[in-house]
Amino acid sequence: MWNIEEFVGAAGIAVEELAAYVDESQRGAVPVLARRPPGELARLLGLREWIAEGGMTPDAFREFLRCFLREGTRLHHPAYLAHQTASPDFPAALADLVHGATNNPMAIYEMGAAAATAEFEVLRWMLGKVGFPEGGGVLTHGGSLANLTVMLAARARAVPDAWDEGVPGDLVVLAPPSAHYSVSRAVSILGLGQRAIVPLATDELGRIDAGRLPDVSGKRVMALVAGACATGTGLHDDLRTIGQWCRERDIWFHVDAAHGASALLSPEHSGLLDGIELADSVIWDAHKMLRTSALAAAVLVRREGDLDAAFQQEASYLFYGDQGFDLINRTVECTKAELGLKIFLNLAWRGERGLGDYVAAQYGTAHRFWELGRDRPGFVFPYEPESNIVCFRYGTGDQALLRERLMDSGRFHLTSAELGGVRHLRITVMAPATDDKTLEALLDAVAEHGSPGGSMEA
Ligand SMILES: *Cc1c(COP(=O)(O)O)cnc(C)c1O
Repeated sequence: MWNIEEFVGAAGIAVEELAAYVDESQRGAVPVLARRPPGELARLLGLREWIAEGGMTPDAFREFLRCFLREGTRLHHPAYLAHQTASPDFPAALADLVHGATNNPMAIYEMGAAAATAEFEVLRWMLGKVGFPEGGGVLTHGGSLANLTVMLAARARAVPDAWDEGVPGDLVVLAPPSAHYSVSRAVSILGLGQRAIVPLATDELGRIDAGRLPDVSGKRVMALVAGACATGTGLHDDLRTIGQWCRERDIWFHVDAAHGASALLSPEHSGLLDGIELADSVIWDAHKMLRTSALAAAVLVRREGDLDAAFQQEASYLFYGDQGFDLINRTVECTKAELGLKIFLNLAWRGERGLGDYVAAQYGTAHRFWELGRDRPGFVFPYEPESNIVCFRYGTGDQALLRERLMDSGRFHLTSAELGGVRHLRITVMAPATDDKTLEALLDAVAEHGSPGGSMEA
């Protein structure tokens, strides 16, 4: 049994330490990431001793947690500009604590009626936002599983007996090379093989060229995948033109909006998703721009029955009636976490408006970076950013090495991406604490660590 007093004490310590951690992170008073090697870390944290002997106490936990937090990566830090992972907000963090303590894996209603209903209502809200009033959805552990789930639903529509009989050899999926790798993985997992992917023509920035969509006569097309936005560049495909093209040919139109769907909450930016309502399916990651911890991703389909058909040949419809409902038939997972509660609490605390303001602020900060950097000597920005993702280069030296130097300094955490075969530095503005001062400091540091032309000095 839980010792309630010990739990209350330890939880209080966790909250105190986390509060101090987020506070110093937000103020940028500490390095944004630690890069100690694993052997050293195992010793520092006493991992083997704790595993072998147990006996943690609240006081020891405080010491352990403090060190654990110090040796990690700080997503609330203004200089955290790396992967598209949410800088989590505290209502969602509270939901993680609730789930950790209650463990209501509510894929079946009897295992957590309140959590299941919270998921259902969050999905209803998301379906409304993307323009699927008759649609259905489910939350999964991440966008990659969400893309796989969508591909299963699309396959069931194209070839209803594929679940029993396997896949015919002539199915194809149309996708740009800039699509997230989970799309091509899903194609192979489904048994189509990589040869089933027909690469769509793109412009020099990797966007689907909507004027050069392929001739598909004689082909059995399972789905066309467009991005909103592309992971690498943060740029959006022309959903309206592509969606209309799909409609005219009765082709399943999938919009991978894992990152960008949250812009639907910002009146200033929702136009980027213009045409999303033409989609047959959309995925939307809450653990990117809705500020929940990883993972909480939504699969949303225009026709509810399409999702129920994904995992069986005979679709049975979900009823939200007196008996409750089981979402288990819509997911790869059997047991799953209380994902809806995380999204719900962020919404309940901040409101749709507050979350939309967050998205607008991050997109705005990324745009500022472009404004501040584009006229600086040696910097190249290949496009004006549309979201909170920006690619750029400095000088002609090795950009990956430049990134390593910036990270070794502990001052900035950023990523890199290939664009037109050329390696670029890439930032994603996730933390609300990132401001003009951070951006200027980053530009200065890049110029300082890089070399303006020629090769980089050793
Ligand atoms: C992040 C991302 C994914 C994958 O989502 P995970 O939650 O990391 O599995 C898929 N598509 C796009 C466009 C993404 O940005």
